[in-house]
Amino acid sequence: MELRELGRTGLKLSSVGFGASPLGNVFGSVSEEQANASVRIAFQSGINFFDTSPYYGGTLSEKVLGKALKALNVPRSEYIVATKCGRYKEGFDFSAERVTRSVDESLERLQLDYVDILQCHDIEFGSLDQIVNETIPALQKLKEAGKTRFIGITGLPLEVFTYVLDRVPPGTLDVILSYCHHSINDSTLEDIVPYLKSKGVGIISASPLAMGLLTEAGPPEWHPASPELKSACRAAATYCKENGKNVSKLAMQYSLLNKEITSVLVGMRSVEQESENGKIPRINIVHSDQ
Ligand code: NAD
Repeated sequence: MELRELGRTGLKLSSVGFGASPLGNVFGSVSEEQANASVRIAFQSGINFFDTSPYYGGTLSEKVLGKALKALNVPRSEYIVATKCGRYKEGFDFSAERVTRSVDESLERLQLDYVDILQCHDIEFGSLDQIVNETIPALQKLKEAGKTRFIGITGLPLEVFTYVLDRVPPGTLDVILSYCHHSINDSTLEDIVPYLKSKGVGIISASPLAMGLLTEAGPPEWHPASPELKSACRAAATYCKENGKNVSKLAMQYSLLNKEITSVLVGMRSVEQESENGKIPRINIVHSDQ
């Protein structure tokens, strides 16, 4: 598994990261046994980066991931854990008070003394000025207190990253997490990579399978894509299958091509998917016919 540096943090993340939202039963029920096996097999295949949030499964993902990481029984320095704050089952709250309390709750659920990355979760749903003037300063204090090593922001519209990064002092933010903008149906994240690099932030890209659109099984019920996009992705998956290829594998290979993007977070829940995704970097992604 290739390791890539995350901006200026000094962290070396596996190019494929473990997205733990499925451990919160977001894509269907996952047993504890299955979750533990997925995390173990991911780690054994070289995945060292695990991403979760208090929002996933209403805190379930953090609890299940915490247990599974503990069961690995390896030194804490061997894995990198990112969680988030500001988005909860009950709604959004980016106040300094809430996010400060949030990290302690996350640490307890994850059974950890610190997280490596703490990110404001989906900032487009809050006031961006509050994020700049209140939330990020609160996260900086949590960083100084040693509860998180690095801080960042996540969101869907790419403009939220430029808005915030243009308004915080240089070096304040360590990382951004973008999703659904670096996959075979949408590669617009590429457009702002030079800007993000100029700001010195590390880049994480999530949802290479477009939250299930680029899979043979198709997306979950709640998927927000238009009927046209759903139908185009279904047709692409069928076309790939008819030609002996797997659309998810192609989508992963595409997402891994840009090395400026440190880690590609894919949502994994079963041992089979784990092995499949963990294997992809070893298949040598330059073979475009894979
Ligand atoms: P994804 O694109 O990774 O798709 C996940 C779906 O693909 C699941 O149904 C999974 O079972 C399936 N899948 C995975 N590997 C497969 C394979 N080899 N073959 C067939 N199907 C496969 O989307 P995602 O789960 O939404 O995103 C990945 C992770 O990124 C999340 O778990 C989360 O950690 C992170 N994320 C963060 C944000 C945010 O912070 N705002 C947003 C989206 C995702």
